Amino acid sequence: MSELAPYGIHWFRRDLRVAGNPALQWNWRQHQGRVLGVFAFDKTFLSRPDFSVNRFAFFLETLKGLRDELRAIGSDLLVLDVGPQQAYEQLFAALDQRQIPRPQAISFNRDYEPFARKRDGLMSEWLPKTYGVTVHTERDHVLIEPEELTRDDEPGALYQVYSPFAKRWFERLKTEHVQQRIRSQRAAITYLDQPLEQHASLFQFTWSKLFGGNCPPVDHLDEYLTRNAKSITVPIPPTGSRVALQRLREFRQRSLADYKEQRDFPDRDATSQLSMYFKNGSITPAMVLAELQLGPLDFKHKDGPTHFIKEIAWREFYYHVLYHRPEVEHSAFLERYRDLIWENREDWFEAWKQGLTGFPIVDAGMRQLRTTGWMHNRVRMIVASFLTKDLLIDWKWGERWFMEQLLDGDLACNNGGWQWAASTGCDPQPYFRIFNPWLQSAKFDPQGNYIRTYVPELRELDAKAIHEPYAHGYTGDYPEPLVDHSVQRGKALALYRTER
Ligand SMILES: Cc1cc2nc3c(=O)[nH]c(=O)nc-3n(C[C@H](O)[C@H](O)[C@H](O)COP(=O)(O)OP(=O)(O)OC[C@H]3O[C@@H](n4cnc5c(N)ncnc54)[C@H](O)[C@@H]3O)c2cc1C
Repeated sequence: MSELAPYGIHWFRRDLRVAGNPALQWNWRQHQGRVLGVFAFDKTFLSRPDFSVNRFAFFLETLKGLRDELRAIGSDLLVLDVGPQQAYEQLFAALDQRQIPRPQAISFNRDYEPFARKRDGLMSEWLPKTYGVTVHTERDHVLIEPEELTRDDEPGALYQVYSPFAKRWFERLKTEHVQQRIRSQRAAITYLDQPLEQHASLFQFTWSKLFGGNCPPVDHLDEYLTRNAKSITVPIPPTGSRVALQRLREFRQRSLADYKEQRDFPDRDATSQLSMYFKNGSITPAMVLAELQLGPLDFKHKDGPTHFIKEIAWREFYYHVLYHRPEVEHSAFLERYRDLIWENREDWFEAWKQGLTGFPIVDAGMRQLRTTGWMHNRVRMIVASFLTKDLLIDWKWGERWFMEQLLDGDLACNNGGWQWAASTGCDPQPYFRIFNPWLQSAKFDPQGNYIRTYVPELRELDAKAIHEPYAHGYTGDYPEPLVDHSVQRGKALALYRTER
């Protein structure tokens, strides 16, 4: 075997950034910058029934940006078109064959989805046993991990209600331990603000140096980008940590102070639109807190910044739920609602998907989703409630459609949001509190501007008529309401009552 200084591999998964990446930093310190990146496309992931071409495009673009950045700072990323086990088998076989030493360690950041936990558990045993490499993992995409925050009265158990969870979460936020996690991200922000050229020799190793011209394994990223580009149906927003940081700064300037009052109005640019960047790890809650430097926060505070952080705590809450109760991926959190008898009319489902239900606020939301890959949170709540409690269609159908369409589609948050709206989940909306789509529309889109943006058929209607056109003598092409809300409300109540 040739003489080679020890080096490490960082296995990227949903932590697609260099700045403040904890496991990558560990590896960098251990090997004085001699770290190489690997990404392995899991076939299981690509063939998931809720796979989204558009989200995959956003993901691939982020991955490409990461590869470019790593190359600019003295490292490299190798994207392999096989699952991780096969990827490492191929890689180690190629190294062994050429008598090149294996890496000393493989690092990755922890993930909490059931599939990922199983995969990571297997890999953490298999890699050291088979190849003698050390595996090192770190916390990254949540601020507080599921095992770090469990019930005071029942250690190890999940808080099933958001408020007590969030109160504890805010208490933990104040601890030195968690503050340190946030402070450590200040350096990440500084790094992002500096030109890349300043970091040109941050890393000291590349795949071609390792293989010394001996045909390193082929990178498949460009092939994926070309193949996937053909099927994209929405504009793909710019990607990466710098874009995410910029979005955060613009949001702070524009809307943070009024976030609590404005966030529910879909025609106002009042939320951060960071969700898709959280999903890929371009930004993390710790980075957000490091950048905003909000000072001491308390769950009881009612200001805009605290409210924004409370939303991030909702995200963490859903991750904790998924971790402690992985069965929610496939069934209702509340056992008594697992066998609800939904009507599941395919034609109604199709009308909902296409934004042709005759309920303008619902149709605007569904069209926003189809044309942009994103939907405002208030409208997500309205359309989810409408699907389950007006159309009496299984929430799992809606959950799947969202995952197929959303650029920010995320198992924990999407499942949590759907089960909340369908009243089947952890800390759900009570089943008898059913959104009235007409009232929601008038309350949260008072001028009808949101509807006008996505439902051009109604553009000419005034602020009153636009919410319920047929009640105001409308005679155009826009469809009549698919159902009578009050009749469907009664049916929904009966449906839930039979299962109690
Ligand atoms: C039916 C339904 C499905 C949803 N599916 C997803 C999904 O697949 N992926 C996803 O990231 N979010 C989902 N959400 C939550 C929420 O709608 C989005 O996170 C939010 O709209 C993203 O916009 P933003 O980044 O501007 O949010 P902001 O208002 O700026 O909030 C900041 C961050 O807090 C988190 N957050 C905000 N609201 C929620 C919430 N209700 N639950 C959990 N986290 C929240 C997000 O990470 C968000 O980026 C869903 C909500 C519902 C009701």
